[in-house]
Amino acid sequence: MTAVHIPGVPVIDAGQLVSTSPATGAEAGRLPVATDADVRQAVARARAAGEWWAGLGFTGRRQRMLRWRALLAKRIEQLAELVHVEGGKPVADAIVEIVTAIEHIDWAARNAGRVLGPRRVRSRLILAEFSAHLEYQPYGVVGVIGPWNYPVFTPIGSAAYALAAGNAVVLKPSEYTPAVGQWLVDSFAEVVPEQPVFTAVHGLGDVGAALCRSGVDKLAFTGSTVTARKVMAACAETLTPVLIEGGGKDAMIVDSDANLDAAAEACVWGGMTNAGQTCIGIERVYAVDAVFDAFVDKVVARAGRLTVGPEGTDIGPITMPQQIDVIRRHIDAAITSGGRAVLGGPSAVQPPYVHPTVLVDVPEESAAVREETFGPTLTISRVRDADEAVSRANALSYGLGGSVFGRRHAVAIARRLRSGMASINSTLTFAGMSTLPFGGVGDSGFGRIHGEDGLREFGRSKAITRRRARSLLPSMTFDRTPTDVARLVKAIKAMYGR
Ligand code: NDP
Repeated sequence: MTAVHIPGVPVIDAGQLVSTSPATGAEAGRLPVATDADVRQAVARARAAGEWWAGLGFTGRRQRMLRWRALLAKRIEQLAELVHVEGGKPVADAIVEIVTAIEHIDWAARNAGRVLGPRRVRSRLILAEFSAHLEYQPYGVVGVIGPWNYPVFTPIGSAAYALAAGNAVVLKPSEYTPAVGQWLVDSFAEVVPEQPVFTAVHGLGDVGAALCRSGVDKLAFTGSTVTARKVMAACAETLTPVLIEGGGKDAMIVDSDANLDAAAEACVWGGMTNAGQTCIGIERVYAVDAVFDAFVDKVVARAGRLTVGPEGTDIGPITMPQQIDVIRRHIDAAITSGGRAVLGGPSAVQPPYVHPTVLVDVPEESAAVREETFGPTLTISRVRDADEAVSRANALSYGLGGSVFGRRHAVAIARRLRSGMASINSTLTFAGMSTLPFGGVGDSGFGRIHGEDGLREFGRSKAITRRRARSLLPSMTFDRTPTDVARLVKAIKAMYGR
């Protein structure tokens, strides 16, 4: 990478990764770039630290994680400012992101023992002389690779759950937001100074690749589907299990009995918060014919009021300058294929900003409908009814989240969406619900963070049976007699042969 300075594009300067504000070009962070040997060493140190951390037990970890949570809450403005400077998002968006992350730390810390700790499970009649015990033991070291768009929420969505489960974590933040990643691990080290339980390694994609090959016991990846394939391929070499939180192209469905004001408000926020750079952001809307025109008018009116700029606005700059080319290409593709911009359009692209853009009549084959745009743009399509909306929403290989506005059929529609998550009469809200799992299907990935499933994702199940009485019907022994086997046959027929 050269030292030519384009605002927002990280550079490597004398072995340091330097991140800059996409709005002003001001330096945001300067962190040493890790070599392959550094990555391996970080993982080796984490392994020893992880044993100490696991030894603290659920109660010891819970105390420390709640202290970390408190530190984040106390310093929320400071962290939000750093997120704002390094990634460009408005401070208010950064605050909401951090609040969500704090909530996840709290829940993971408080619930890990209940969900993962040793417990008895029921025995079955056929082995009634044994008791059954289950627990989830930590993997050891979990590697976390995170994107830049939610540099607090996404790594913590994996790291907090992995830590609560008793693992050490080595984080590779995006090269666009290394300072935020370092802030997170430094704050953790303040409350857990004894051992390097949660650390970071910095650099470009090759450092992420090195982490995949470093001997971590599990790899949690959040980022694009293209990179996810590379991560899986690297992890396949060592059979390292992976969790993939990939991209999305989430749809919102507006049914005929929807509250249109609420739908328009949530649609504009869900599509344009963080300048649309949200994996679960609303990018496509399917509104039924009866409400289409009124809904589009309301969306255009609301989106047209959003302010765009570096400070104190609703929409900040696009974080990765090259993403602007993707956004421009999608808007152009929509227009050349017969779509219309009812707000914004090609002229809305004013680097480093993109102004709100609402596109209608865009064919479903267009890149604007099929590919992740990651900008403050929406396509709104007219559909006959909710059935057509569902089939169009489900037509892509992505399947992350989604949203439904309506009354009578909303739950049924949400359940039919081919996605890991859905919110009814709101957008994106499932991400903040720490009791619910988060993750996608298809090209959006597999595995789950958040909630009980998210805790179990970072523990290996350990199953133990224990004899509590002599076997009345011996079967799993060479000491069994033909009579025992005959009685077994009789018993199984009596139990299951009907
Ligand atoms: P990328 O896939 O480009 O990068 C993600 C991370 O992977 C970065 O830290 C990156 O490092 C690293 N990386 C790059 N190459 C490799 C490699 N060969 N091996 C290992 N790691 C590598 O995604 P973005 O950072 O651009 O993030 C945006 C994407 O993330 C969008 O597609 C979005 O939908 C998705 N996303 C998904 C979420 C979910 O929960 N499902 C949540 C948020 C975002 P570097 O930056 O240094 O290149």
